[in-house]
Amino acid sequence: MVSTTPLAMSPEFRTQSLERMRTEQFDVLVIGGGVTGGGAALDATSRGLSVALVEARDFASGTSSRSSKLIHGGLRYLEQLNFSLVQEALKERSLILDRLCPHLAHPVPFILPLQHRGWERLYLGSGVLLYDTMAGRHKAVPSHSHLSRSEALRQFPSLRKDALIGAIKYYDGQVDDARHTMFLSRTAAQYGAALATSTRVTGLLREGDRVVGVRAVDLETSEELEIHARATVNAAGVWTDDIQEMVGGRGQFNVRASKGVHILVPRDRIHGETGLISRTEKSVLFVIPWGKSHWIIGTTDTDWELDRAHPAASRTDIDYLLDHVNAILTSPLTHDDVEGVYAGLRPLLAGESEATSKLSREHAVITPVAGLVMVAGGKYTTYRVMAKDAIDLAVQGFPTTVAESTTETTRLAGAEGYHAAWNARHRLAEDSGLHVNRIERLLGRYGSLLHELLEMVAEHPDLGEPLTGADEYLRVEIAYAASHEGALHLDDVLTRRTRISIETFHRGVDVAQEVAELVAPILGWDDDRVAAEVEHYTQRVQAERESQQMDDDQTADAARMGADDVRTGIPTGA
Ligand code: FAD
Repeated sequence: MVSTTPLAMSPEFRTQSLERMRTEQFDVLVIGGGVTGGGAALDATSRGLSVALVEARDFASGTSSRSSKLIHGGLRYLEQLNFSLVQEALKERSLILDRLCPHLAHPVPFILPLQHRGWERLYLGSGVLLYDTMAGRHKAVPSHSHLSRSEALRQFPSLRKDALIGAIKYYDGQVDDARHTMFLSRTAAQYGAALATSTRVTGLLREGDRVVGVRAVDLETSEELEIHARATVNAAGVWTDDIQEMVGGRGQFNVRASKGVHILVPRDRIHGETGLISRTEKSVLFVIPWGKSHWIIGTTDTDWELDRAHPAASRTDIDYLLDHVNAILTSPLTHDDVEGVYAGLRPLLAGESEATSKLSREHAVITPVAGLVMVAGGKYTTYRVMAKDAIDLAVQGFPTTVAESTTETTRLAGAEGYHAAWNARHRLAEDSGLHVNRIERLLGRYGSLLHELLEMVAEHPDLGEPLTGADEYLRVEIAYAASHEGALHLDDVLTRRTRISIETFHRGVDVAQEVAELVAPILGWDDDRVAAEVEHYTQRVQAERESQQMDDDQTADAARMGADDVRTGIPTGA
């Protein structure tokens, strides 16, 4: 069913989706609720196809909640002369910021410090000029400018004077990746897709050589189900090879994982109006403003062959980031300044076959056997192109002609009416009794869907109160995460619908009880279940803290494995 009102991803919606999955034959079934899978589901459903998506854990629980959160062309790809990739990503940046989700994505300024007189300004200046020029007229962000050393220090007082001789200021985009990915799925639901998180694919259904769907297990009930589809799309990120193995043998490409760690520190620990990007011996260091109260500092780049569901950050990773950022800051940061830490795995293509893969854009789309499409690689910014390529391939051979992709113009839920709501923010503040700063923040997280939250507050005024211990968030956001945004566990709410797990020194533990009690009536939890969810979350944070004391990946991984995954660790009943 196609609706004009965004559908609430309520617990009932999940139950209905699973019922549909048991009984319907879909055109397209997507495995994986990351940005690629969510994008593929939206692409297919907005072409008029019937679509199902299954995600083993939560929307964006893999790499898609753990990126640097930049919507960017990739300035450094210019150095590698990869112009087509940059051009494509810049086009996507503009679409995302201007049209598809202006409520969720916004421009962010960066200072690029120069350390050498003469050639460097010319060299990097030409690169940034080319970057801006390639973005074209509709580039969605302001143009770059050259700064003297004193001007750069005025804009970023925490930069050490001897760390630069001048700077270039340029812009890229930023998005809360976990929320954006969830919004892709929610928009796909609006266009009729059936979606189920906590649903792990365990095998592929075959008719002769052809894949005709999947076998899956609902991890909330342990019930097994078979889902039938004309085409199945494997968008499982760093788990791509596991699905590939289900068809037997090696495929035409493999996906390997590289770990990237980020830390968060409070905004007042670094004085600067912009972000900062600085070269390191291996890659680049980003210092990125995150909301009004935090900085994100990243990232590392090391091979990872241990647990893929919970990649662990070690003390060595954190030391690396602190050492590099301290080399350019006036007041060094210490471990005590670190509020939050997260680690993600880059899904990197390896061993691909040139003949069949589309590597020009650093992602690959292939059909290893009839009925199955694999899509992997790429980056967050270019998810829409990956999704379109995957569905283009999936529908080849369908008996009737399928419409072209419409995702260049399909706006995400909350985008329609966002600018009007922004213009009305002072009136909305007056009417709701919330401060205008709150309304602005909510608009950046929900867009025009803000009205749904305000209605909930009007009915239950206590939901308009801030959470004790994480007062950037209102209680209504917690309830809404469970009633409208598909959150099924405490971990989903504290880690991805909100970012309390990385934005507070207590990492969510101090608000766990209050949050669990808020979602309990919506998710049907009794007191035992509330206690189990809180206990599980507390153990997870404890295991992460321990892993972050370890010197190497092996011991960090072993410490992190001390806490189960919430989807297998808590008996949830029928
Ligand atoms: P994922 O998000 O990992 O999704 C795959 C999903 O499949 C998972 O949710 C998983 O649970 C599910 N799954 C796996 N197996 C099964 C199964 N059997 N059944 C059902 N579901 C299953 N890109 C940018 O453009 N900008 C950036 O700033 C940026 N920074 C980055 C920084 C780091 C440190 C990293 C690691 C990556 C960064 N990227 C960035 C890249 C970007 O984050 C990834 O390319 C993108 O998120 C990958 O999304 P995905 O959907 O392919 O994979």
